[in-house]
Amino acid sequence: MTRRRRIYEGKAKVIFEGPEPGTIIQYFKDDATAFNNAKRGVISGKGVLNNRISEYLMLRLGEIGVPTHFMRRLNMREQLVREVEIIPLEVVVRNIAAGSLSSRLGIPEGTPLPRSIVEYYYKNDELGDPMVSEEHITAFGWASPQDLDDILAQALRINDFLAGLFLGVGIRLVDFKVEFGRLYENDEMRIVLADEITPDSCRLWDIQTNEKMDKDRFRRDLGKVAEAYQEVARRLGILPEGNVRELHQTPRLAN
Ligand code: C5P
Repeated sequence: MTRRRRIYEGKAKVIFEGPEPGTIIQYFKDDATAFNNAKRGVISGKGVLNNRISEYLMLRLGEIGVPTHFMRRLNMREQLVREVEIIPLEVVVRNIAAGSLSSRLGIPEGTPLPRSIVEYYYKNDELGDPMVSEEHITAFGWASPQDLDDILAQALRINDFLAGLFLGVGIRLVDFKVEFGRLYENDEMRIVLADEITPDSCRLWDIQTNEKMDKDRFRRDLGKVAEAYQEVARRLGILPEGNVRELHQTPRLAN
């Protein structure tokens, strides 16, 4: 880890001051938490995998014109990103019923949704990240109506692209969470994709077996969490050399 000034320590990442003004460093930890910190653990190697997976997905999204905070990966656990003013919303996009949608509305997990559904949660640990509507968001000034239009359009675009990308490697993108930030350049403000996109923040199911390849393995004590994240990285073709032979094997993740 670098000896730079620590700005903030989150549940799965530490944020350090970057080398130039307007930049910060995201350090990916192996720590895992769930249920608003009620469950804690360490998944050995998770930070390294998440650093690479988020780098890969942000770069692919950048290539299709989605603006992101990502600049470059610095080493195994750190990446340099642009400093943004984080909009205090967790934007969740769902394609298949799972998790809190299933428990809240009684829709069995695995039910395909008639169309992609976008939900907003107010980022506030003390309140347990409550779900909010566009009315709350604009009335309380967390984002303007124009900001929200932009966020919704970007979230759906990210979903379309990532769903196709994962489908191509035999993975169903069930749902995911993204965060956005305001990037100020000269006199202009742009909303950009920030934070991370990793198996910590997505539900990813094997297309053939429906095996979970994401943080639900930790949340639900299914075991083989790091192996699942590794398999996601391997299918995306981003594991370091030396693991290529294993690409041709289909490991079983379930116990
Ligand atoms: O728990 P829920 O079903 O609402 O989660 C929807 C999606 O958002 C899941 O992919 C989950 O991993 C992600 N999420 C997250 N951070 C949170 C809450 C949910 O990454 N604080």
